[in-house]
Amino acid sequence: MTRLVVVGGGIAGLAAAWFAAEAGLDVTVLEAAPRVGGKLRVEEVGGVPVDVGAEALLTARPEGLDLLAAAGLADERISPLTTSARVWAGGTTHPLPARTMMGIPGDVEALRESGALSDTALQTVAEEPSLPPLPPLRRDVPVGSLVRYRMGDEVADRLVEPLLGGVYAGSADVLSLRATMPTLADRLAQGGSLLEIARAVTGAGGTRAPGADPGRPVVPVFASLRGGLGRLPATLVATGRFAVRTGVTVRTINRSAAGFTLDCGAVPQAERIEADAVIVAVPAAKAARLLAGVAPAAGDELGAIESASMAIVSFALDGDADEAGIPAGSGLLIGAGERFATKAVTLTSRKWPVDADGRTVLRASVGRHGEPHALQLGDADLVEIVRRDLGVLLGDADTPRELRPVDAVVTRWGGGLPQYAVGHVERIARVRAAIAGVPGLAACGAAFDGVGVPACIASARSAVDLVAGSLSQARTMRP
Ligand SMILES: Cc1cc2nc3c(=O)[nH]c(=O)nc-3n(C[C@H](O)[C@H](O)[C@H](O)COP(=O)(O)OP(=O)(O)OC[C@H]3O[C@@H](n4cnc5c(N)ncnc54)[C@H](O)[C@@H]3O)c2cc1C
Repeated sequence: MTRLVVVGGGIAGLAAAWFAAEAGLDVTVLEAAPRVGGKLRVEEVGGVPVDVGAEALLTARPEGLDLLAAAGLADERISPLTTSARVWAGGTTHPLPARTMMGIPGDVEALRESGALSDTALQTVAEEPSLPPLPPLRRDVPVGSLVRYRMGDEVADRLVEPLLGGVYAGSADVLSLRATMPTLADRLAQGGSLLEIARAVTGAGGTRAPGADPGRPVVPVFASLRGGLGRLPATLVATGRFAVRTGVTVRTINRSAAGFTLDCGAVPQAERIEADAVIVAVPAAKAARLLAGVAPAAGDELGAIESASMAIVSFALDGDADEAGIPAGSGLLIGAGERFATKAVTLTSRKWPVDADGRTVLRASVGRHGEPHALQLGDADLVEIVRRDLGVLLGDADTPRELRPVDAVVTRWGGGLPQYAVGHVERIARVRAAIAGVPGLAACGAAFDGVGVPACIASARSAVDLVAGSLSQARTMRP
């Protein structure tokens, strides 16, 4: 059997291993950490197991749900109990307006009802379709500049930054339209109005606009797993379809007569592993170093992708959130320019059917690309700053709430999210072209087709297809 080594046991690497095993390859995953999963991880907070990394799968894409079902977890899939998130803007909270594309409004009435924008900003949005239409978009641009130019700063700061910036932990003024909002970029190839495009795209979406037919079932936008999405990696491994070695750091990859050699571990215990094929499924900066010996052009391109560091601070509070009168639905996003270290809050025990034993479990995210200050604090200081933020964010406007957590867990994700800057799609095309020149080699993960879990799984499928294709071509060419 062909020996495939997958470097990295995050969701991309494990999905690649799963698909490759299905294709009949003999697969070993090498994972540097003591456990698999990467950014999918469950920790106990106040005795309640909760996700401290990725927590939700987008249901609009099939890849995450399919893998969950393939791992035998379909019956343990859960849907959010509420998705009525709010946004903090202008010193108070507002419901997130219905019918937006990552914060770009598609319905002026829904925007007015939310109260998130000033009257002047609302008028700017309402009048956007009467501006001369945007010319056909021929090159990539930052999402933020486009939104500011057409709809004004409030839409960018209060809606697009928290929603889009929240997914990437980056700034909408830097993130690429083509890479982060491809549907909008495609539609803008014909030019037009942002409001009209957002109206057309969100009109038939899964979220129900106020006033929509209440009899029509609404498909939840997100799904998760009972006990935490972070259970998925270990469940995939437990099927025994592929081998996994944890605590093995791959240092270099080189070509050999038979395929590839991987040098692993530190000098006294260094180990050389041979493989016919390799899939690199580690974050961009690490992939850059690993690919330097086999596909240096791909390594250089990946090395140029920046990443954002962040932390998740999870709390358990005594008492139920509803009984304590905590507002904010399933969670709260914080608009740009507001003076909090906290960028978003998820009320985990209200959002998901978690057995929290009467407690409130919530998580706050801290840190964005280019904003490392709060992350430089020690854990105790970070917990205290977030606790104070939450007192204001979850209190009412004049009286901060005195939160007394019974437990707090800090999870740091250094370089956790790659930044899809302008030109990212073209950069990834160059990476793929360079890798395709090396038969038996492929790469996948959050830097490729999207940072979300389903997109990482999709990139794993493409990586396996590439490797399987080049191996079968090599076999037919052999006499
Ligand atoms: C806090 C947070 C919340 C998120 N929330 C969501 C969400 O709700 N929904 C969603 O869809 N997405 C979410 N994401 C994004 C998503 O979780 C990630 O993009 C995705 O999990 C990345 O998977 P990956 O396999 O590409 O990389 P990783 O998860 O980073 O896995 C890479 C693995 O490679 C290992 N490794 C690195 N170097 C080496 C080496 N030299 N040798 C061997 N192993 C190595 C690492 O230890 C790691 O386990 C979130 C991300 C973060 C940080």
